[in-house]
This record gives sequence, C-alpha cells and structure tokens, in this order.
Amino acid sequence: MQRRITAIALMLSTFLLPGVAVRAQAPQEKFDTAAIEKIKEEGMKHSQLMDVLSYITDVSGARLTGSPNIKAAQEWAKQKLTEWGIQNAHLEAWGPFGRGWSLEGFSLNMVKPYYVPLIAYPKAWSPSTNGALRGPVVYLDAKAESDLDKYKGKLKGAIVLLSPAREVKAHFTPDGRRLTEEDLLKLANADPPGAGGGGPRFQATPEQRAAMLLNNKKWEFIYSEGPAVVLEPGRGDGGTIFVQSAQLSYPQDTPIEKRKQVRDKDAPPIIPQAVVSVEHYNRLIRMLERGAAVQLEVNISAKYWDQDLMSYNVIGEIPGTDLKDEIVMLGAHFDSWHSGTGATDNAAGSAVCMEAMRILQALGLKPRRTIRIGLWSGEEQGLLGSRAYVAEHFGKRLGPEPRFGGGGPPGAGAPQTPPAQQTPPQFELRADHEKLAGYFNLDNGTGKVRGVYMQNNEAVRPIFRAWLAPFRDMGAATLSISNTGGTDHLSFDAVGLPGFQFIQDEVEYDTRTHHSNQDVYDRIQEDDMKQAAVIMASFVYNTAMRDQKLPRKALPGKVVTQAGK
Ligand SMILES: [Zn+2]
Repeated sequence: MQRRITAIALMLSTFLLPGVAVRAQAPQEKFDTAAIEKIKEEGMKHSQLMDVLSYITDVSGARLTGSPNIKAAQEWAKQKLTEWGIQNAHLEAWGPFGRGWSLEGFSLNMVKPYYVPLIAYPKAWSPSTNGALRGPVVYLDAKAESDLDKYKGKLKGAIVLLSPAREVKAHFTPDGRRLTEEDLLKLANADPPGAGGGGPRFQATPEQRAAMLLNNKKWEFIYSEGPAVVLEPGRGDGGTIFVQSAQLSYPQDTPIEKRKQVRDKDAPPIIPQAVVSVEHYNRLIRMLERGAAVQLEVNISAKYWDQDLMSYNVIGEIPGTDLKDEIVMLGAHFDSWHSGTGATDNAAGSAVCMEAMRILQALGLKPRRTIRIGLWSGEEQGLLGSRAYVAEHFGKRLGPEPRFGGGGPPGAGAPQTPPAQQTPPQFELRADHEKLAGYFNLDNGTGKVRGVYMQNNEAVRPIFRAWLAPFRDMGAATLSISNTGGTDHLSFDAVGLPGFQFIQDEVEYDTRTHHSNQDVYDRIQEDDMKQAAVIMASFVYNTAMRDQKLPRKALPGKVVTQAGK
C-alpha cells in the first residue's frame, strides 16, 4: 500500500513540481553528484557509442554464437577496450557450446509461370541445399493430422510450403512506441513477483495449443518424408522477416534433455529451411490455389564451424582502489540472430556497456571497487554465456537448474521453476560470490532507460531512487518491484546476486527488430543510446563508490559447498 502511495506521489511530483526531489523516509543515499555531472557531459557531448555500434553491426555483421563473425567482433571489442585503457581485456572461453554456422550464399526465386525474386532468409543452422534446386512446389495443406496422409510419398526431394497463408493487416497503430505515463505508473505499482508480478506469463489458448501440436506433427511428417527444402512465412510483414533457428523434429513429449540441438556436432541430419516474407509466401499459396504451375529455384549455401566448439565472453576491467577485490559488473549479450546485424538485440546494450566503460575511463574516475564488463555470448540459446560465467566465478545451483528462455520478449523468459518445489535448491558458491557488489544489464532494444526493475529486492529502492534523481529530466524515474525475464541478469539473480535490468522504451522492438532482418543500425535511436550509456555508467560508478555493496535478497536455498577462487 505504501508503495502505491509513494508511486502516485512520485508521479505527481513529476507533473507538478519538476525538479523537486521526492524525499524517501530512509536516510538519503549519498553519492558523488559532481562525478555524475561529468559522466553526463562526457556521454552526451563526446560519445563514441554510434561508432562502436557501427563496427559491431555493419563491419562485423550478424554475430551468431559460434560463428566466425562473432569471434571477429569479440576480438575487435577486446582491442577497442584495450585502446581505451581498459585493463585485462580478454576473451574468456565457456562451453562447449556446439558448432558455429555461417551463410555463404542464398537465393530464392519464383521461375515459373514467370520470374520474381523472393524476399527470404534461411534459418540459422540450416544445411545447404544440394546446389540450386529448381522444381514445382508442394503446399502441405493440412488442417488436421489426418490430412497428412494424402501427402505420403509425395514430398521426397520436393520444395515444400509448410504453412497456410497468413492474413496481413494494415499498421494503423505505429510500429514504434514509448512507455506512457500510464505504462510507467503500472510498472511502479506492479505486484512483487509471485503475487502476480514479474510480467505476463505466456499462456497458450486451446486453439494455439492445437495449432502447436499440429505443427509438431507436420514437422515429424516432414522429417519422415525427406523433402529438399521447407519454406514458411515469417512473422512480420512489410519487409520485416523474423528468423531464428532451423527445426529438428521430435515427438511432442520428448523431454528437452533428450533432444539434440541443431548446433550439436552430432545432431541428426537437418532439412534445409528458409523463411519467406509473408506477402511473397501468401502470393505463392494463392497462385497454387488457382491452379498456377508455380516453380521455384532455391539455393542455400551454408557452412558449419566445428573446429572449436567452445564459445567466448569478452571481459575487461577498470581496477578499483581501496576496495579493488570487490567487483561491480555491467553487461549485455554480444551474440545475435543472423538475418539482420543484431543492432537492437543486442549490439545496443553491448555498445552502451562499452561506452559506459569508456566514459568512466576517459574521466579518470578512480572507482573504489573494480568495474568489470561482460559481453556475453550464447544468450539467444538460453543465457548460456552469462550462466557459465556466473557458475565459474560466483557460484551455481546444484541439481536441476531453472530453465531460462533465451531471447524471448521481456517477461517471457523468467526462470521456469516448478510451482510446488519440495526441497529448496542447493548452491555451490565461489569466494567471489561475496565480492560482487552488483550487476547491471541492458538488453531490451534501442529505447532509452525509464527506470529499473528491482527484481523483488525492496532494499534497493531508496538507493536507486536517489541514483535516478539526476536523470528525471531525461525520462528515467520509475522503479518497479517486478522482475523482467529473458536476459542475462537472471543468471546472477538465480544464485542470489543483485542483478538488474533497466526498464527501457520499447520503440520498435517487438514490431520490427527483435530477431528480424530489420534489426540493423538504422533502427537505432542515437539519443536514447547516449542516455542509456550515461545512466549505466552512473549506476555502475555509484555502486563502485558506495560504502556497502548493494543489498541482496536472501539466497533461495542452502549453500552446500564453498569453493575457492
Ligand atoms: Zn534476442
């Protein structure tokens, strides 16, 4: 109740008394406001962020984990950090992750009854087709499992259209949006996780569930019949195609740990797969329904990289002074999907973290604690790089781990802990577990920071409220007790470390860029990114300078071993 009143008071003060700080009941958190002003000045007036971002996106290209592109981009980032004077910049191996993949060539054309080049993109880890294939297409028109029978024996070597046409609607609401005052108030008033907070959990309707089951049956059928290539319409329209991983097929009830992943070196043979822009896909279906003799020509040329199955995180430090054994971390995932250049997901967060390091270094601020950047890989496959780093340096949960959905929309990837867990989890902690003062993550696109998810850690409220005060006029003032899922702060949170993700404006994340071919430099909002960098630098610096480490939640279980390091 108190929280609600406070939140409303905060909103009123924003509207009615601009510039007047709201006093919390707790003693005011002290911090170095002069340093924060310098950080603002450096980050807003001498930013190198967009240059860094162009190198990571345009020059390096897409950064699929395990690919040569990401390795080159990581080497570049290490070099850049070193050039700025960041200490001990290095690539730290984790894994094995599995084999990498790169696209070496691709074309998809309709060649009959007339020629049209089609907008399409192969799925990650799709194998090559056997050279350029030309032939009629088969539309697998199955509305129920029983409809599959009539295609038996007809798909071998064929070019298959897997799904029905999908309706395309006009965009009457704009693709880009910012959080409104109402959205922010809702976040400020959100229930703590467990009491309904923590973001909407995806619940399939019976129709969606039936569609998912049918889709799984279709894939089983596809894999038993052996077509040459499978095409599907992407989510998105108007030139936006959302593309992720190629699909293997397992019966619906196969547990995750019994399934091979496409990145596994010993994965079973994968059927070549591509996603076609919905308008082109629909056109093919409509032509087939009207009896047109459609022929396509498709050529996927892809390469697997299996010499080095390990993957890497980029790490670098600004050494601390009197508390140098204690650590403050900032991070973002550096890997991306492959059809764009992973600009908003998540070169944005990576460039913000690098720029925050540059700002702190350039100002010659001498942090008390060591500030360490972590640019993670394998996030899109389930927060793998950050989880491995946390396990190696801070500690891990023993036994079955909570499952993290990697790369989902905010709220979709919270740890999936069984609802009625009988025994509390057990933890094996490293010595550095005690020494981490805080971790700050950025991974919700190009939108500016509007506040912080407190991750059900009420004790940080007065601290973060004070730290946000200098950024109220830049749009960042909201604290939400709720958590947000789907990204790397969860790896820290899961072992009782204070890890936080900032609240960000959505901009075009869900509508245009998140995992799509339009996730490119041009969709980045420069001013938003600069704002995020100065807030990131400030939070990290304040955490490094505080007398105490940030308060923690109780570890959700029992410590069984305490290992060195
Ligand atoms: Zn993602």
